Amino acid sequence: MARFNGKVALVTGSSNGIGRATAILFAQEGAKVTITGRNSQRLEETKQEILKSGVPDSHVLAVVTDLTSEKGQDELIDSTIQKFGRLDILVNNAGTAVTDAQGRTGLDQDVSDFDKVMQINMRSVVTLTQKAKKYLIESKGEIVNVSSIAAGPQSQPEMMYYAMSKSALDQFTRSTAISLIQHGVRVNAVSPGCVVTGIGEAIGFPPGAFEKLAAFWESHKECIPSGKTGQPIDIANVIAFLADRKLSSYIIGQSIVADGGSTLVMGIQAHDMMSILTS
Ligand code: NDP
Repeated sequence: MARFNGKVALVTGSSNGIGRATAILFAQEGAKVTITGRNSQRLEETKQEILKSGVPDSHVLAVVTDLTSEKGQDELIDSTIQKFGRLDILVNNAGTAVTDAQGRTGLDQDVSDFDKVMQINMRSVVTLTQKAKKYLIESKGEIVNVSSIAAGPQSQPEMMYYAMSKSALDQFTRSTAISLIQHGVRVNAVSPGCVVTGIGEAIGFPPGAFEKLAAFWESHKECIPSGKTGQPIDIANVIAFLADRKLSSYIIGQSIVADGGSTLVMGIQAHDMMSILTS
């Protein structure tokens, strides 16, 4: 029997990247899935990929909506319950960074960009979780949040607002984990490193720019020690592990880092100690 048979999963941001890979994996492993995003064409592509792997049409609900609107969130939860009758797994994955057209970063970036990034990466997670809570308590379900290694503890001067939103999300994971475990609901998170997805395009990088950055990081062992960027499925596998109570029941309120070793390297290790000493 597939491990998510009988379960219903809602995966936000499943019209692309990590969310798409996660929704496909859950559906292939037996779950009924609600997929969602703003872009109807890309959402349909996710649906078609799920169906291609032999999953029946009745196991997929596609909802085109903007997650920053509470009306959209209500529609998402209500239509999931209406179609599938329950909710077992909520994956709060939708997210993005917001860059400045004039290239300003850090504290120089307009505070309206801070509002935008907090709206999607944090506020919408709070309100969607509030709306899903009663159904997850009924099913004794699981929440998996998608954070980022940008959350810290290292600084992120160039993507400060994005990093702040993910730090806040980590605190949300820890705090809700303790509140909700009293009701039998587990909350955990994954913190990916560099994964080539649609995020480069979404944040306004020119075509190919994110791939160029990723290739540079891959070829520098102080950036990605494993020498490889992650694939969306690498993160989807961690999400599935955290949503699978048989495998991860004793993990509560944690964020699992999946980054090819990036966050283990300190600046002083970027240079070879022996060659400094002998030069
Ligand atoms: P993508 O841009 O490929 O996917 C982002 C998804 O979020 C899309 O499906 C997009 O849908 C959805 N989304 C964004 N804004 C909204 C909105 N307002 N309403 C509804 N849906 C929205 O990026 P990733 O797959 O890389 O990102 C997924 C998560 O992973 C994010 O939280 C990101 O911060 C995190 N992450 C990614 C890393 C990476 O290197 N890729 C590293 C660390 C963390 P649509 O465009 O259709 O609205």
